[in-house]
Amino acid sequence: MYESERDNLIDELTTQGITDVFVIKAIHDVPREKFVPEALQHQAYKNIALPIGKGQTISQPLTVAIMTQALEVKKDMKILEIGTGSGYQAAILYAMEAKVFTIERDFDLYQEAKQRFEEMGLNIACMCGDGSIGWNEFQPYDGIIVTAASPVVPNSLLKQLAIGGRLVIPVGSRITQILHIVHREDEENYSTIKIPAFQFVPLIGLNGWKEE
Ligand code: SAM
Repeated sequence: MYESERDNLIDELTTQGITDVFVIKAIHDVPREKFVPEALQHQAYKNIALPIGKGQTISQPLTVAIMTQALEVKKDMKILEIGTGSGYQAAILYAMEAKVFTIERDFDLYQEAKQRFEEMGLNIACMCGDGSIGWNEFQPYDGIIVTAASPVVPNSLLKQLAIGGRLVIPVGSRITQILHIVHREDEENYSTIKIPAFQFVPLIGLNGWKEE
């Protein structure tokens, strides 16, 4: 279903600079319409964010592609996602054969995503809680992707990154952010590449923003 819409979206992403063939294949293969409310399914392959309830959104496909490409995902890598939302980003990582762990703070969204993973046969570990402190039990991670806007790069997440791993996180105000791609060089040293300008919903939690 939606074959021509999918192809058009892939054309748009490649035109906009997405080159990782595994990212492109995952976005082509994962049915985004299954992650959005039924009434919005006809818009699933538009390159736009869409509401998923509880004041939250499924990110724009270009944003998903940029962030996933920045993570440099390889088969069997252990990846932690913070901000499960609909579960779409986690499903993209799973399609790239990563071992995926994802945390959502909103219980209803967590339950919906968990059920979706089960129905779709996706073996993704999910938890309801504050992802701004990470998920200590399964660290270190080869990649950590935060799909909500943080005021800072949380130290807790840097510490849970494997040496050689990458943390991809939008950092800035509640309104607009710069994407930070942090590479853990060794035990002590991290290097960062920054890409402007993104707009995410806030990361609410101990190392994020306070609930308003
Ligand atoms: N990755 C999602 C997807 O593919 O649909 C989109 C994420 S949405 C832009 C951001 C999500 O982060 C929301 O569902 C929100 O409830 C969640 N969130 C915000 N703060 C969080 C926190 N501290 N821990 C876990 N999830 C959080």
